[in-house]
Amino acid sequence: MSSDFPMYALSEEHQAIREAVRAVCDAKVAPYATAVDEEARYPQEASDALQAADFHAPHVPEEYGGAGADALATVIVIEEVARACVSSSLIPAVNKLGSLPVQISGSEELKKKYLGKLAAGDGGFSYCLSEPDAGSDAVSMKTRAVRDGDDWVLNGVKRWITNAGVSEYYTVMAVTDPEKRSKGISAFVVEKSDEGVSFGAPEKKLGIKGSPTREVYLDNVRIPADRMIGAEGTGFETAMKTLDHTRVTIAAQAVGVAQGALDYALGYAKERQQFGKPIADFQGLQFLLADMGMKVEAARQMTYAAAGRSERGDKDLTFFGAAAKCFASDVAMEVTTNAVQVLGGYGYTREYPVERMMRDAKITQIYEGTNQVQRIVMARQLLAGIQSEL
Ligand SMILES: Cc1cc2nc3c(=O)[nH]c(=O)nc-3n(C[C@H](O)[C@H](O)[C@H](O)COP(=O)(O)OP(=O)(O)OC[C@H]3O[C@@H](n4cnc5c(N)ncnc54)[C@H](O)[C@@H]3O)c2cc1C
Repeated sequence: MSSDFPMYALSEEHQAIREAVRAVCDAKVAPYATAVDEEARYPQEASDALQAADFHAPHVPEEYGGAGADALATVIVIEEVARACVSSSLIPAVNKLGSLPVQISGSEELKKKYLGKLAAGDGGFSYCLSEPDAGSDAVSMKTRAVRDGDDWVLNGVKRWITNAGVSEYYTVMAVTDPEKRSKGISAFVVEKSDEGVSFGAPEKKLGIKGSPTREVYLDNVRIPADRMIGAEGTGFETAMKTLDHTRVTIAAQAVGVAQGALDYALGYAKERQQFGKPIADFQGLQFLLADMGMKVEAARQMTYAAAGRSERGDKDLTFFGAAAKCFASDVAMEVTTNAVQVLGGYGYTREYPVERMMRDAKITQIYEGTNQVQRIVMARQLLAGIQSEL
């Protein structure tokens, strides 16, 4: 099964988006994917091409100057970019992650200003929840925001921040009332140019090497009170609501990289000859390829089902977002590992793209909540009686 065939009952509009993104990726993303990984450098060519085609932050509504892509269209953009280069797919994915808190809970002024700048290409958006000692247990964050007259003053360290240093804008979750635990956390927009903002060295990672991950240091960062996103004490709720939607985009990355690995493995299996015939003729390998295709399809269908829930804001989105992210990322890890197997020794070298895909796939099981955390989220929803509205 190849993703070149129209397999889904997508609307003509969604199908057209897939074709348009694929064309951009074939020309301007895929050719640089190996170099971006080898040199661990920002995918500038992809960034420029995605921006030129208005795919850099497709989710921004038209009323704020964006492309107004719905959740499924955004998923298709991210899936297609990830099929070519997972590092590059972090551009539209993290622009959604960073700005969605503003879109969900921000004042009209914040939306106009920051979503407008994002859509216009005036700067990307990052999301700052994690800290050195607050990963899965994000509520235990220590970054503080203290009110001082008409301002808030922020101090703390955010860790693992995707596109830190590249992005102009940052949604930062900080404690405004330590007594109130999750209800004492508020969200703010911080700008890269705000005095007291600085960044750590890029992390040296296993995969997605083209996506910069750095610490963000907040040293007496003074910002006006109207940069708070939503009401005081609602920041954690906004952060979690955001993840319900954006876990669907991580599932899309997972589907994309798995499809990229499957496509490569299929082509290779037809070309590579052993025992006097193409290895694709061996049933043992056909069964492996069949399982890969079956699982990619299942992951894609689940991801698209979750995207529908994200678009409508259904109450079973929390379950579906976690389930799609968890399932698709486990599939991505399995399928990319099996793609390496299909290529044999060649798959284990950097001369072929599948080892990069395997390394890149791993992150989808970890970020936006590890897959253990996704299972906790799903179990809570099941036990509360919320699985599916069907
Ligand atoms: C490349 C990269 C990019 C990232 N980008 C961002 C970003 O842009 N913004 C941001 O805010 N964060 C980001 N993160 C952070 C990411 O979301 C966290 O790494 C993740 O949530 C896990 O936190 P941790 O690394 O502290 O692991 P820990 O929380 O220390 O977990 C370690 C292990 O313990 C398990 N574990 C923890 N608690 C439980 C439990 N209750 N039950 C069962 N198992 C448990 C975990 O599943 C994991 O296997 C990024 C991380 C990476 C690596």
